[in-house]
Amino acid sequence: MAYRSWFQCVSGCNEQYPLNEVIYRCRKCDGLLEVTHDMGALKNRGASAWMRLFDDRYKRTDYPYGSAVWGKKEWVCPEVEDDNVVSMYEGGSNLFWAERLGRQIGLEDLWVKQCGNNHTGSFKDLGMTVLVSMVNQMIKEGRGIRAIACASTGDTSASLAAYCAYAGIPSIVFLPKNKVSVAQLIQPIANGALTVSLDTDFDGCMAIVQQVAREAHIYLANSMNSLRIEGQKTVGIEIVQQFDWEVPEVIVIPGGNLGNVSALAQGFLMMEELGVVNKRPRIVCAQAAKANPLYRSYLTGFADYAPIHAEETVASAIQIGNPVSIHRAIRALKAFDGIVEQATEDEIANACARGDLTGLYNCPHTGVALAALFKLVERGEIRKSDRVIIISTANGLKFTDFKVKYHENRLADVAPRYRQQVVELPARYDEVARVLDRLLPV
Ligand SMILES: *Cc1c(COP(=O)(O)O)cnc(C)c1O
Ligand SMILES: [Zn+2]
Repeated sequence: MAYRSWFQCVSGCNEQYPLNEVIYRCRKCDGLLEVTHDMGALKNRGASAWMRLFDDRYKRTDYPYGSAVWGKKEWVCPEVEDDNVVSMYEGGSNLFWAERLGRQIGLEDLWVKQCGNNHTGSFKDLGMTVLVSMVNQMIKEGRGIRAIACASTGDTSASLAAYCAYAGIPSIVFLPKNKVSVAQLIQPIANGALTVSLDTDFDGCMAIVQQVAREAHIYLANSMNSLRIEGQKTVGIEIVQQFDWEVPEVIVIPGGNLGNVSALAQGFLMMEELGVVNKRPRIVCAQAAKANPLYRSYLTGFADYAPIHAEETVASAIQIGNPVSIHRAIRALKAFDGIVEQATEDEIANACARGDLTGLYNCPHTGVALAALFKLVERGEIRKSDRVIIISTANGLKFTDFKVKYHENRLADVAPRYRQQVVELPARYDEVARVLDRLLPV
């Protein structure tokens, strides 16, 4: 059975382009392109046969199908030959049962999808493996691509740099100066990417990289490139798979450029069309109050939308005022009974720390999602009995500085309510025993 996918203009004209063409917008009408699949061919295999196939491959050893992205290759990117796939065993991340945290806030069934447990420490790997694999194939076909470039709030560049280094493809990353964590900055440097720090914000970097990529020999890896969405959409499929193909009631996801929330919805729509699921979860998109253009639009019932100037936030990966995928995201939220909620710096940092005290190690973006969850539960918009999934987007280890500052009470606009401190004592047993006795619960 031959499965097929291609770029298709979704702004009205329906023009199609092959996936191995260097193209980001429709040549006829300048519309957005989305990867489209031959759903007829996919429907020839029944839903239960798909589920069995995906389960048989899940986290096994048959390369590249053990990757939870490539285990769903027919739904993701059948165009890439197995030999051209650039995979580092993406996906298959832990679905953490946040039992204690759930109980504290009155939820019976709370889970955290640990996307930070991917190769470079964020969900960006799910999409990057698809994009770099496709470009790897294009290079082998002799398309004269010299490098892959991206603008990034940190994690995209780390992911691009790693996948390119693995495949031996040069990469270029543009980062906003002083706006990504040290850990995020050192990742592309260590992987040998040409790392350019620009004295601007993310939106400024995006403008430059789009100009750079007008030169046909440099391929653009931004989330406007819908190949990445194809990989990222597997997160929703994987969550359902991890619950033996049951759909949860609510999924909360932090949003910046809004590619990921769009991808999440896309995965569910595909499962629905192919008969794997017959209901939809409610999707909650959580934004930082300092970078909340989607939230503002939500308050108008999505009637109005205007880009904003995003202010500095601890949730640096979502400090975006002019999201590329705004329209895709609004469409997705409308289809999934969506809610948009925002969180202040104080709410974000305290939500992270509260979660950490129950065994998590949250990045600030996961904190945005948790803070939104706390508010929605309090307002009764999420019910006690709902099965709720938080999408944790990055590994907390990338944000050591943020965590140190929280526990040292040095974060702007944050009053730490879950502050922990080191106990300093002389190296004498009697002194240690006395203090332990005082501090431990009886
Ligand atoms: C990229 C990123 C996001 C935001 O995803 P979008 O697709 O831009 O909405 C959230 N959290 C982390 C850690 C990220 O790296
Ligand atoms: Zn078009």
